[in-house]
Amino acid sequence: MQAPSSAVRRAICIALVEDEPTQRLMIQTMLESTGFEVRAFADTLALRRDSTHRDVDLILLDWELPNESGLELMRSLRESGQSKKPVIFLTAHPDEQRVVAALDQGADDYILKPPKAAELSARINAVLRRVGGEQATASQDVSPYVLDHTACVLRINEQAVALTQREFELAAHLFRHSGETVSRDSLMIAVWNTSPNVVTRSIDTFISRLRKKLLLDGTHGWKLEALYQRGYRLSRVGESASVEPTDSGPAANARD
Ligand code: CA
Repeated sequence: MQAPSSAVRRAICIALVEDEPTQRLMIQTMLESTGFEVRAFADTLALRRDSTHRDVDLILLDWELPNESGLELMRSLRESGQSKKPVIFLTAHPDEQRVVAALDQGADDYILKPPKAAELSARINAVLRRVGGEQATASQDVSPYVLDHTACVLRINEQAVALTQREFELAAHLFRHSGETVSRDSLMIAVWNTSPNVVTRSIDTFISRLRKKLLLDGTHGWKLEALYQRGYRLSRVGESASVEPTDSGPAANARD
């Protein structure tokens, strides 16, 4: 029912390296159900053979693998300059030394196996926000809005807008996904780092406040809409209709 937004922006793509077939399938399914695209590999050789791993957004790497360990793979990809993509390790052992070694050598995070869907997704989003979010938004033309991720300041025509940290993160997420329909669940995970199963009433309040503060009503050429039962969409005025038809009647009743 919801049109894929690939015309506007592709889904976040994760390379998964896990040698245990049941685990691999379980994690892949988990990721796909949360909206990620997945390229799954049974070992590091399979990943090395497939050059498309260079295009992924993040590598989810099992620690113990045949041929070479996940840590060895990460080191080699980075040293050879083949991939500087963020890496999250999957490990069955909460071994402190191991974790320290991985983080020391540049891993971005680690998750204990078996992972839980909400945690996995939240950790991935947190890492992507930290590592890649800045570039993603910076490379997008969102003028006249300018997002300074280092200072967490948003400016409209050079004028800083007073935002809380959470409001800034919400704005950054929406701009990063501009033109797409962003579900409440994905906002809960990406911005609040929370399971979507909690009460999400306050999202409406945040959205409403953000729209007022940033004048996302078309004043500056951008519009933040509530899409009835589907979520929200931030888009340039005139852009949304060509991407996906907007709900008319019911949307007007959405609390925003
Ligand atoms: Ca393994």
